[in-house]
Amino acid sequence: MGTRTRISEAPTIEVERLRAGVSGPVILPADPGYDAVRAIWNGAIDRRPACIARCTGVADVVAAVRFARERDLLVGVRSGGHGVGGHALCDDGLVIDLSPMKGIRVDPVARTARAEAGVLWGELDRETQLHGLATVGGIVTHTGIAGLTLGGGIGWLMRKHGATVDNLVSVDLVTAEGEVLTASEDENPDLFWGVRGGGGNFGIVTSFEYRLHPVGPIVLAGPIYHPLEDAPEVLRAYREFIAAAPDELTTIFNLRVAPPLPFLPEDVHGKPIVMVGACYGGAAEDGIEVVRPLKEFGTPIVDLLEPKPYTVLQSMFDPSVPHGWHYYWKSVELPPLTDTAIDTLVEHASALTSPKSYCIVFQLGGALARVGEDETAFSQRDTAHNVNINAVWTEEDPDAERHIAWARDFFDAMQPHAGRRVYLNFLGEEGGNRVRQAYGARNYERLVELKRAYDPTNFFRGNQNVEP
Ligand SMILES: Cc1cc2nc3c(=O)[nH]c(=O)nc-3n(C[C@H](O)[C@H](O)[C@H](O)COP(=O)(O)OP(=O)(O)OC[C@H]3O[C@@H](n4cnc5c(N)ncnc54)[C@H](O)[C@@H]3O)c2cc1C
Repeated sequence: MGTRTRISEAPTIEVERLRAGVSGPVILPADPGYDAVRAIWNGAIDRRPACIARCTGVADVVAAVRFARERDLLVGVRSGGHGVGGHALCDDGLVIDLSPMKGIRVDPVARTARAEAGVLWGELDRETQLHGLATVGGIVTHTGIAGLTLGGGIGWLMRKHGATVDNLVSVDLVTAEGEVLTASEDENPDLFWGVRGGGGNFGIVTSFEYRLHPVGPIVLAGPIYHPLEDAPEVLRAYREFIAAAPDELTTIFNLRVAPPLPFLPEDVHGKPIVMVGACYGGAAEDGIEVVRPLKEFGTPIVDLLEPKPYTVLQSMFDPSVPHGWHYYWKSVELPPLTDTAIDTLVEHASALTSPKSYCIVFQLGGALARVGEDETAFSQRDTAHNVNINAVWTEEDPDAERHIAWARDFFDAMQPHAGRRVYLNFLGEEGGNRVRQAYGARNYERLVELKRAYDPTNFFRGNQNVEP
């Protein structure tokens, strides 16, 4: 890694040059609003870029890339700003901020949508649901489509329609040389393979074209809450249930203290719970018999697994993970749940040190598993679950270290049960071995070759980095 110039050390004229090329605002530390534009979802990240270029279109991105390249500046690429490790920002360098790029066009006949990189999932769902369509997105509406898609993409529709990258038709991308390329099955197919899971390693994606599917607008979906003390039995019953569940059904469970969500009765707030959530991706009436065993098991505190608009499902959990709280994540994948894995999950979830922390477990498989491991860079194809252990606290909380230690101990305890891989988008700053683990040896080697072809100087390295 060579020494890189800081913009703050460069003469003012340099920033004026950047301003001349970028039509959106270029923000410096002394500018009003600097702190607001450098804030990202994870409030624990406090990085101070020398300059933030708020891009309004492809030409702005090209100008910013060329400016940084000519001056050998460190670059951060920011879209939705949800990356937990804070790679969207860099200290001292130039942040290329795509969050103002909000264009969306839905073609309801072709069943595709093109969306610019600054779009969030809630914004895309709103436009596609106007036509009763959707693609596979994340489960929180304020997450960016860009980072989520580039890392693979899992959500409530994945077992029916695959990962988000399995629904990607094409991308427009600005390379490290400032060239504009399109990548699809037919055009630059090698690059298209790489962007479907390879993160931001090959360029800045300015827009994404997705395949859409009829979804809802009313879907049979939602959470069922049980007391945490019942979790060992609930999760054993859940395991039997999902073993026979059709691909239309995707489920997620969550171990935590019940947050003060508006749909939960007040006397439940603050109580340790296990939530089992499901979304039936087909017609709501066809799902009723499918989910019956899940609804009839045990004595739920609240059962909200019922027909609701897809957009309501998508935004249900937004308030439990707001912007600005402090977050630290550890993640493992799991094969089908064993008794000991369930007991370890419950034991550690019962010992959480912050009432905001939680452990969420996604059920994979279905359509996701019908794609070959080497067909996309995203390679988590044959595993049963993604586990995300999330320590969460606020700035005033003096016990940050204790909360982080809880997540680490939990992660260590899960190791005997863990599968081979890890989900790239759930990684924090965990180093090169964890990035390799996300892909496996074969896909990682192929990513290195692509990196050598498209970004041999590692210009894009403020990310989950594949070293050339
Ligand atoms: C509350 C919450 C809920 C989540 N839920 C899900 C979920 O349901 N499913 C799931 O799969 N993931 C989920 N995630 C993880 C999510 O996929 C990642 O955090 C992802 O990086 C977010 O993308 P972003 O654009 O918002 O983030 P950013 O922080 O803006 O981007 C993350 C990184 O991606 C790269 N990048 C971003 N934009 C571009 C671009 N246009 N071109 C090239 N590279 C780029 C950069 O390296 C950047 O640092 C969730 C995250 C959070 C915080």
